Amino acid sequence: MTSFSREVMAVAIAAMGTFLVLGCGGGSGSAGGSSGGGLFSAPAEPEPTMRFGVVWDDLVVDSGKVKSGQSLSHLLDPAGVSPGRVATLAANSRKTWDVRYMKAGHRWWLASKAVRDSADAEARLVPEWFIYERNPKDYALFSLSDTLGVRLGSYPVDTVYARAQGTIENSLYMDFDKVGHPTNLAVAMASVYAWTIDFSRVQKGDTYDVTYRREVVNGTPAGMPVVLSSVFTHWDRPLEAYRFETDGVGGYFDLEGGSLQKVFLKAPVEFSRISSRYNPKRFHPVLKKVKGHFGTDYAAPKGTPIVAVGDGVVTKSSYTSGNGKYVKIRHNSTYETQYLHMSKRAVKEGQRVKQGQTIGYVGQTGLATGPHVCFRFWKNGKQIDHLREEFPPSDPIDATLQKAFADEVTQLEALKERLEPNAGPVRADGLR
Ligand SMILES: [Zn+2]
Repeated sequence: MTSFSREVMAVAIAAMGTFLVLGCGGGSGSAGGSSGGGLFSAPAEPEPTMRFGVVWDDLVVDSGKVKSGQSLSHLLDPAGVSPGRVATLAANSRKTWDVRYMKAGHRWWLASKAVRDSADAEARLVPEWFIYERNPKDYALFSLSDTLGVRLGSYPVDTVYARAQGTIENSLYMDFDKVGHPTNLAVAMASVYAWTIDFSRVQKGDTYDVTYRREVVNGTPAGMPVVLSSVFTHWDRPLEAYRFETDGVGGYFDLEGGSLQKVFLKAPVEFSRISSRYNPKRFHPVLKKVKGHFGTDYAAPKGTPIVAVGDGVVTKSSYTSGNGKYVKIRHNSTYETQYLHMSKRAVKEGQRVKQGQTIGYVGQTGLATGPHVCFRFWKNGKQIDHLREEFPPSDPIDATLQKAFADEVTQLEALKERLEPNAGPVRADGLR
């Protein structure tokens, strides 16, 4: 089954409800059975309210946000959980989730059971659960009763679909915002068309028609929107893009199954060896202290040609005491690369370069212990380890997958037709 139809099924069998219903942690859907209690449904036993995957009825709940300097014991001590039990809880939890990861600003809940020792006695609270929200999607559920321990859980995730359509008036970013679409959809679009459109030069009158999906957790959109299909008309030329997953990595293809992505060369120097990998916590060999290494070092003899890993424009051809002689290239609105410690530079700022073109020669200028090129890679302005980055497929769709791709295109087109442009997000079960 294709990725899209899997999702539609998953959402379709999920609990009914509208996108704006504020989720209660555990999700009533997990209780199964018929929920809703519509006008004509027969009276039934009320279903237990679930939250964080546990029965939430009859619990007395206190909640708040972790304050600066607060630890688990600060939060549990007032509820009468002894320091010894907190220590056991922390020890039992360490392998699953270390309580020392708790950070200020995150939400927590303490749920207790009201217990009466005799009919006329005052109720006392016995702590049952402590929940710490790790991020908008995930939480840690601590059991405070008999077995002290932790379980990790996630809120139910809804997938919603939307379609953005319009004509560029200012920029993709501003125009999306104006018609109620997330501005980071512009970033997603820039990635889809990274190799075909320079969005900094997109002009008034260019048009877009984009179908995308987003995840919604507790009524709030989470994460980046994912472009499913798009037609961007640039200089009167329509450029289609369809998302298709091969080997678990999503890529964008045109109607004929040609990839919209190009490939980068694996390394900027031939016949080299990697002498140091990307490591944000590296101990610097020259400075003798921890200083992140945000590049990959390729050792090669002095004078070995260094080549551009992709087409682009030289944005820097310069010298600093740390970098030595270096060159930086912008490939498109998404990717940039930089090459350090050259003995000699071979290109000027503003110059266009082709993939494989020599841009300089290996040396050890700047902070370097031997001849090598320190190769750095940026994606959307953030430095990344290019050896770990899963680049989208750059080959055309394989002949064996042509049928699956054609089916996916049909589905994506059908989805697009069912979405009213700029009308707000719709869950799969709300599509007609
Ligand atoms: Zn380096």
